[in-house]
Amino acid sequence: MQAEVNIGLLGHVDHGKTTLTKALTGKWTDTHSEEIKRGISIRLGYADANVYQCKKCSKFILKDKCDCGGAGELKRRVSFVDAPGHETLMTTVISASSILDGALFLIAANETCPMPQTAEHLIVLNLIGIKKVVVVQTKIDLVTKEKAQENYKQIREFLKGSVAENAPIVPVAANYNINIDRLVETIEKTITTPKRDLDKPLRMYISRSFDINKPGTVIAKLLGGVIGGSITQGSLKPGDELELRPGIPKKEGAKPIPILFTANELREEGDILKEAMPGGLVAVGTSIDPAITKSDSLVGSVIGKVGQLDEVVDTLKLKYELLKRTDIENPLLKNGEVLVVNINTATSVGVITNLSKGTATVKLKKQIVADKHSKVAISRRLGQRWRLSGWASIV
Ligand code: ZN
Repeated sequence: MQAEVNIGLLGHVDHGKTTLTKALTGKWTDTHSEEIKRGISIRLGYADANVYQCKKCSKFILKDKCDCGGAGELKRRVSFVDAPGHETLMTTVISASSILDGALFLIAANETCPMPQTAEHLIVLNLIGIKKVVVVQTKIDLVTKEKAQENYKQIREFLKGSVAENAPIVPVAANYNINIDRLVETIEKTITTPKRDLDKPLRMYISRSFDINKPGTVIAKLLGGVIGGSITQGSLKPGDELELRPGIPKKEGAKPIPILFTANELREEGDILKEAMPGGLVAVGTSIDPAITKSDSLVGSVIGKVGQLDEVVDTLKLKYELLKRTDIENPLLKNGEVLVVNINTATSVGVITNLSKGTATVKLKKQIVADKHSKVAISRRLGQRWRLSGWASIV
């Protein structure tokens, strides 16, 4: 079974995301830090959980046997999506909002609510308009009952007027597996799988690409390159003739040429799929020369059926809005300023060449696919670092 719903994990870095992911999926999402150390620009981490329902007591459980003795029936597979670090998470949640169907919003019971990062995550949640939200009040084992209740009231107050105003709040102690069953039940009721547009043209956004051949493999035994990413619409079968954009330029600085290829094999978390649909991280074994796919070189590309993809551009006209940051000044954009733009899984540096009434024209260093349905995250240099500064749509 393929994961059929993607749930983003939001919340302050220290509010227990890794522990909760472990409790829900059995996996640590901390592999991110390894990826950062190696300097790979992988931003989205995926961890799947199988959700079962007990045939005897109807409880939602994360294993195929219930504590009551009843057998569990597999209901669906859920993919939890995370990104490392505060800035990266906010940037990714905006630019990759099209792949998220809902969100868990973690808020720790042992801190005053809201902490600055928590407040910024709520701004981002509002902005991308994800309505299926479950708030997880974490670390209740670290406070008294009275303190937890007081914190719960603070959270309710904080959520007022936001997209998450009526979101359920589930207290948990993930370290001790306390109330995780209630959380799973709430996720099943609140973050339902949306209706998928399988008849729409395929869109898959690439977040990984690699060469799976061992060094020294003879040419006749070489396997094609593997690419991984998320499908937002349409579906994909082995044997499909596909196109990848932007593609590869013949020489540096030239317009990239799209790559035409065949999908050979499809997988999701290691399982072979007969057909790939929206949900989770799908890996595609391709007919592409593995030298082209190695070391994440195709991250940021988009896949579709031949002739159905959006244009590749080197200039974007953006209708933008600046974010209100809680801890830093975020002044107006300036002509000639250098920005980083993220759209889906693509990243490019660009220079503002024109500014007028809420629109900015940005000349990009690297060409990207201009998907008008997607949101664009804008980062700029504030102080010593790149900080998320605004978001935009393509006009
Ligand atoms: Zn049961």
